[in-house]
Amino acid sequence: MSQKINGVKGMNDLLPGEIEVWQFVENTARTLFGRFGYGEVRTPMVEDTALFVRSVGEETDIVGKEMYTFEDKGGRSLSLRPEGTAPAARAYIEHSVSNVEPVSRWFYMGPMFRYERMKTGRYRQFSQIGAEAYGAKEPAQDAELMDVVVQFLEALGLTDVTLNINSLGDDNCRPAYHAKLVEYLNAHRDELCADCQQRLERNPLRVLDCKNEKCQAVAGAGPNVLEFLCEPCRTHFTDLQRKLGALGIRYVVNHRLVRGLDYYTRTVFEFIASHPALGTASTVGGGGRYDKMMKGLGGPDVPAVGFAMGLDRLVLLLKEGGKTFTAQPDLFIVAADVDAACQDAALALTSRLRREGFYVEFDTRGGSLKSQMKRADKSGARFSLVLGGDELRTGQAKLKPMAGGDLIPVALGSVAQTLRQAASQPSSPPSLKTRE
Ligand code: ATP
Ligand code: MG
Repeated sequence: MSQKINGVKGMNDLLPGEIEVWQFVENTARTLFGRFGYGEVRTPMVEDTALFVRSVGEETDIVGKEMYTFEDKGGRSLSLRPEGTAPAARAYIEHSVSNVEPVSRWFYMGPMFRYERMKTGRYRQFSQIGAEAYGAKEPAQDAELMDVVVQFLEALGLTDVTLNINSLGDDNCRPAYHAKLVEYLNAHRDELCADCQQRLERNPLRVLDCKNEKCQAVAGAGPNVLEFLCEPCRTHFTDLQRKLGALGIRYVVNHRLVRGLDYYTRTVFEFIASHPALGTASTVGGGGRYDKMMKGLGGPDVPAVGFAMGLDRLVLLLKEGGKTFTAQPDLFIVAADVDAACQDAALALTSRLRREGFYVEFDTRGGSLKSQMKRADKSGARFSLVLGGDELRTGQAKLKPMAGGDLIPVALGSVAQTLRQAASQPSSPPSLKTRE
């Protein structure tokens, strides 16, 4: 017997029945980003490894430990994208977009790859939705971006999510904070985990990001980055908070928030869910300002701010909410007779109603009346219609409301019209809609 081949560890299949909640999230995102004027960008899944090394940073977990890197047949070092900000920036620079428009606002969605230890909400192929705004250094841009996320979460019905914000300063004020932090952490070196002792040498800011409780306690009692901000950075941060207030967006200032990537300047933010289903993977998304990255990648001196949200975690939260996302058929057509004329007529009626915009089910295997009725029941269809010799002869049939109620007489030529009428009656559930 041949051996069964399984999918790759940490990479999931999404089958019909589960995909609908994903489509709901994706469609909601498309609608919202459109309203905010963000256009979709699609970049390849694979990039030159150097792109991530130079933007995300060699010392980060993502580049240091988690990247799927390989050599192609031409000897180039390529990597599966672990995140979407660097590829979008690369495309922005490559296509000289800043020459054409002063401000560009893009969003993307799709799979990212990181070789991580798997658990709930943490996979090796996962999906992100993200947005980037290029060309505006003003705090209004940071606020607008947070507003997209807030409205997106609202539209999904996810309310138990807290926005955390912080400022990391800039090249002018961060060095003083950095020096103080190193001094402090060195004094508490023995209390840090082995990873953090290494981080202390190479990238001390990352210690603030450690999930270990002891490290968090040490970091929490350490110097506060906000006390080191220079005047322009402080103004940027207070303006941002005023604007969030004007938008009615609730937030918490969290001076320990640094985020796992190297490229951030000034604003950083995270959206944290409190639902126990996510365990330690409670951050559903985050982002920040990266005013220096474009230049660092050989591009123009253009400021930027962006965020990314993990779809897998949003989907987990939505599933906890218990709503169903699968579509309900408007009608199930049952062919009462096994003869070819009846079967063909039922198939043709199904097709005609689908062309009219209805979701119609029909059992292509034929089978007994009883088995088809069973299937109609299971399908969750709002109505069923039995088509047999009598109906074909008289041109008259009956719509049966599957939830109970009187049969509705209908001429075979006007089933669509009757279905539409039934849908517009107040007693009908809202699911019976013609699709555009
Ligand atoms: P974490 O601290 O949870 O590892 P991160 O800082 O590495 O997150 P980002 O790089 O900021 O995550 O990515 C943005 C979002 O993408 C995260 O908030 C999370 O929702 C999602 N995400 C990141 N890594 C994974 C993963 N391996 N599986 C599923 N979702 C992920
Ligand atoms: Mg991570």
